[in-house]
Amino acid sequence: MSAATTIAGLSVSPGRTLAKAFILRPDPLDAAAHVGAGPAGSESVQDGIERFAAASDLAARQLRELAERVRPGLGDDKAAIFEADIELLADPEFAEAILARIRAGAFAAAAVLDACEEHARKIEKLPDAYLRERAADIRGLGRRLAANCLGLSPDAAAPQEGEFVIVARDLTPAEVALLDPEQVAAIVTEAGGPASHAAILAASLGIPAVVGAAGATTLIRSGDLVLVDAFCGRVWINPPPELAAAFAAGLDPQGGDGPADARPQPALTQDGTRVALLANIGSAGEAVRAASRGAEGVGLFRLEFMYLGRNQPPGEEELTAALAAALAAMDGKTVDVRVLDAGADKDLPYLDIARAQNPAFGLRGVRLAAARPDIFLTELRAVLRAGVSGRARLLLPMVTDVSEVRLFRDLLAQAAAGLDAEGIPRAADVPVGVMIETPAAVFLAGQLAREADFFSIGANDLTQYVLAAGRDDEAVAAGYDFYHPAVLAAIKATVGAAGAVPVGVCGEMAGEVDGALILIGLGVRTLSMSPGRLAAVRQAVRLHSREDLARLAVTALTLESAAQVRRSLRALDA
Ligand code: PEP
Ligand code: MG
Repeated sequence: MSAATTIAGLSVSPGRTLAKAFILRPDPLDAAAHVGAGPAGSESVQDGIERFAAASDLAARQLRELAERVRPGLGDDKAAIFEADIELLADPEFAEAILARIRAGAFAAAAVLDACEEHARKIEKLPDAYLRERAADIRGLGRRLAANCLGLSPDAAAPQEGEFVIVARDLTPAEVALLDPEQVAAIVTEAGGPASHAAILAASLGIPAVVGAAGATTLIRSGDLVLVDAFCGRVWINPPPELAAAFAAGLDPQGGDGPADARPQPALTQDGTRVALLANIGSAGEAVRAASRGAEGVGLFRLEFMYLGRNQPPGEEELTAALAAALAAMDGKTVDVRVLDAGADKDLPYLDIARAQNPAFGLRGVRLAAARPDIFLTELRAVLRAGVSGRARLLLPMVTDVSEVRLFRDLLAQAAAGLDAEGIPRAADVPVGVMIETPAAVFLAGQLAREADFFSIGANDLTQYVLAAGRDDEAVAAGYDFYHPAVLAAIKATVGAAGAVPVGVCGEMAGEVDGALILIGLGVRTLSMSPGRLAAVRQAVRLHSREDLARLAVTALTLESAAQVRRSLRALDA
């Protein structure tokens, strides 16, 4: 087989695909390189002014098209992202800042980039968090205008139809939310880690994704054919025909096995221990997918995904409708609705909360309730209302103190009383679960168990807080590892302190075959994961006995490092 250029990365959402690449947000430096050289030939002041005017008209048309493209599927809020740029283009002050530079001798493209950069820097200093967040938009608009000035395509050659592989340096959760899963065959990014929300969202949308693919945006060009194997984290650029043919025949390009098909058999260990396999979702639509893959309920509905890419939070009606749809899809099975967990990697500018010095340690999760009880009351009303037609439960993120659980129980009672006073039907009882994702919650698990109806261990955050290694920080990616014995010890301690309170795990670890197995060994009986992982985990559970897994966990707790734990897990496959 002839050699092809390949890039290794980390698989964060399984799948395999062969499709044309589309470079999202071409590197602005590409445009800057053209700008430095100037346009072909010289550009008089008059040429520059005309070039800018044409570029601005074209940008307005492009942005209007983008707004109209997203509106039907994603609604007015997401279309508004582009409309804000159109408004800025029409602002005479904005145009004048560019024209002044052109009159002073700058090429149009350089004038645009320079003026937008200056504007963005000013905005970044504003006290208002929403406006500050617009700095990135201004820079994006500058790149679009500069590309238009230079006759380049600002959106690369976006295919109008068919599937394509999105290649980017990095993607924010909002950008992933804006992708059309029907058109995206896979995602390949240079940055990002397995527990970044962009990765998690890709997994829950069922889009195969490889992150940490160094050099992807320089080695791959829009239109290249790429084979993405997001089972093993490898990307082939313009693969040779024999490799493409092997893919088309359904073979693993590496010669290994693909994942098993979803089969809704019960997840029973060889010695008859029942493990509940639930789904993590970020939208009501995903509940349908989760149900079709045999999910026994939703263990984590990340409500915050409904808050991304818009200018204001969703209202009670919208939330109620989404939750009712998820409950209907789950057809009587439980749906654990996590109240808004914003503030760490998911900054919601419209909440107008001052940017934390260290967002992972800032005003995130239930801590936001003190600043914005209105947001949570709206959610609680929606959960109570939707709960009339199914089994909704609440899940509280980032708990560090018993008082936080009590505060939410009070808010829940307040929401229920309000609905009763208005004569609006509601669920009689909504159980309240606590996410165990901080060391404080682990140490207080005994006390929290007296306040909570169930626990759900957020292994993604628990790992970052136990190991003091940021989950999205590439520099410490090697140190961020769920298999570290300290993380396993924290999970073991939680299970022990929980007593009769049921304990599940909903971090990414629960959806990794080895992670699921060791969690069962540690005594966890409920695992919640991206729907795409259910089949492989179900199959693995059925191959092992609880007794063997418990022995494995006991040994793992005595080991010194994540590497040693991973090696001990290999023995299971032998
Ligand atoms: C977790 O922290 O493990 C978790 C499930 O929540 P999130 O990834 O959304 O922080
Ligand atoms: Mg978390």
